Amino acid sequence: MIYDTIIVGGSYAGISAGLQLARARRQILIIDAGQRRNRFADHSHGFLGHDGYHPGAIASKAREQLMAYPTVEWITNTAIHAKAEKIGYRITAGSGQSFTARRLILATGIKDELPDLPGLSALWGKKVFHCPYCHGYELNGGMTGVLATSPLAIHQTLMLPDWGPTTLFLNEVFEPDAAQLAQLARRGVTVEAEPVSSVGKEQADITLASGRIIRLAGLFIQPRTRLSSPLAAQLGCELEAGPTGEFIKIDTMRETSVPGVYACGDAAVAAGSVAIAVGDGARAGTAAHQSLIFR
Ligand code: FAD
Ligand code: MG
Repeated sequence: MIYDTIIVGGSYAGISAGLQLARARRQILIIDAGQRRNRFADHSHGFLGHDGYHPGAIASKAREQLMAYPTVEWITNTAIHAKAEKIGYRITAGSGQSFTARRLILATGIKDELPDLPGLSALWGKKVFHCPYCHGYELNGGMTGVLATSPLAIHQTLMLPDWGPTTLFLNEVFEPDAAQLAQLARRGVTVEAEPVSSVGKEQADITLASGRIIRLAGLFIQPRTRLSSPLAAQLGCELEAGPTGEFIKIDTMRETSVPGVYACGDAAVAAGSVAIAVGDGARAGTAAHQSLIFR
C-alpha cells in the first residue's frame, strides 16, 4: 500500500494534521514513539477549551477521535530513516518495517536539554519550567527564581515579575551588563551572584554554595533544544537556527525546503505550545492534502 501521507509524530501537531487528511478520506499512517515533550507535567495550560487538563488526556482524546476515521492507521514505533523515492518517501521504523507515502509530515517535536544540577530533573514540569505562560499563573504570585542557563535568561527574567517577585541566579553562566542591570532593577528583580549547588527534593528551593537556602514557589530555566529526530536532516531539509536550537525551516504552508515534506509543531517553530502545534498541524494537513490534488 502506498499511503497518501505518512505523519511521523502522533502528538498535538501530528494528530491535528492527520485529522484534516482523514476528513478528506485520505489513507494515512501515523508513526509515533509516544514521547510527548510535556509528559513530565500533570497540567497543561493556555490551550483553548482545555485549560488545566492533563496533557496526556488532551492527546489521547484527540487520538481517539482521529482513529474513528476508517482511513487512518497508527503504529507505535520510532521512525529511524527517511528516504526520497520516485513515488514519494520511504520511512523505515525501528521494527524494521518500511512504509511508502506520496507526502510526508514531520511532527516529531524537540527534546529539552536540562542543566546538570542535583535535584533539577526530578522537578521538571512540576516545579521547574521553561514557559511562564504555561505554568507561571499557578505559582499564585509566590517567589519565583530564574536559573541562568543561557543568555536568554535576561529575557525570561524581565517577564517573570508579572507572575511573582523574581530572583535571577546568575550561577556563573550569565553576566548582565550595566544596561541589563538597570532593566532588572526597574522590574524589581533580585540578582544573586553566588553559585547554586542544588534544587530541593519536592519544592524548587535553591541551595547556594554557602549553604544558604532561598525558598521558591517555582524555578524557570532556558533549556537548549534539539530536534527529536534526524529525519529532516536525512532528507536534506534546510534547518534554521532558533534562539534555543535548530528548527526545521518551513514556508507559510508548512512545507520544508524539500517538496512534499511538511513540518509542524515544536520541530518547526521556536517557543511552541500546544495551541501553536494544533494550528500548525491543521495547516500542514490541509497543505499536504491540497498538494496531492494540485501538483
Ligand atoms: P510533541 O508533543 O513533543 O510530540 C512529538 C511526538 O513525536 C512524540 O510523541 C514523539 O515520541 C514523536 N516522535 C519524535 N520523533 C519520532 C520518530 N523518529 N518516530 C516516531 N515518533 C517520533 N505547552 C502548552 O501549550 N501549555 C503547557 O502548559 C505546556 N507545558 C509544558 C511543560 C513542559 C515541562 C514542557 C517541556 C513543555 C510544555 N509545553 C506546554 C509545550 C508543549 O509540550 C509543546 O509545545 C507540544 O508538546 C508540541 O507538540 P508537538 O506535537 O509539536 O510535539
Ligand atoms: Mg506531533
